[in-house]
Amino acid sequence: MDAPGADFLEMNSLDEYLREAEQAHGHLCAGQVLGVRLAMLGLAKLEIDDPRGKDRKRLVTFVEIDRCATDAVGVVTGCRLGKRALKFRDWGKMAATFVDVSSGKAIRIAAKESSKNLARQMHPELESKNQQQMMAYREMSDDDLFTTQWVKVDLPPEEFPGYKGERIVCVLCGEGINFRREVQRDGKVLCRACAGESYYSSI
Ligand SMILES: [Zn+2]
Ligand SMILES: [Zn+2]
Repeated sequence: MDAPGADFLEMNSLDEYLREAEQAHGHLCAGQVLGVRLAMLGLAKLEIDDPRGKDRKRLVTFVEIDRCATDAVGVVTGCRLGKRALKFRDWGKMAATFVDVSSGKAIRIAAKESSKNLARQMHPELESKNQQQMMAYREMSDDDLFTTQWVKVDLPPEEFPGYKGERIVCVLCGEGINFRREVQRDGKVLCRACAGESYYSSI
């Protein structure tokens, strides 16, 4: 049997990733296709072939939105919040940055605004926007879908997945604080909630 060509392999892994993404996310949607393509492009640019196997300690991924595509990025890269390899920056943008911690190389990839219109032009026969985009995002070139930019990401030791640091106790609430997230106020060590950065208030 002939060895499959590179195109075949690429399509094959797109389909495979989409199947996995659908399972993990609960449904297949345009966001899954976008997220899978975005992550595959990031890995290809960094030449990381096996992010969930032998290369699993090489990659840290920053995502800039908590939407459908974010789940797909997690599936393809294997980067998870609970492993500290997935970092969430809540900027509401369909973009992610992939950092190869072994080399320091990093690439930021963002979805182009124009890809939505292009999807409509490519598949006017399909009724729903989601279906148009689901189909078109599979077919579009990387250049039509994304902008890419090599960047530098400042990643201090406490941001690395394997960071082992001492736990500090907040002098006000007594709760433990990991990963150097404590705040110094008037010579006191506080957690961010006690320092006034809380997202909740007591009732
Ligand atoms: Zn979805
Ligand atoms: Zn506290």
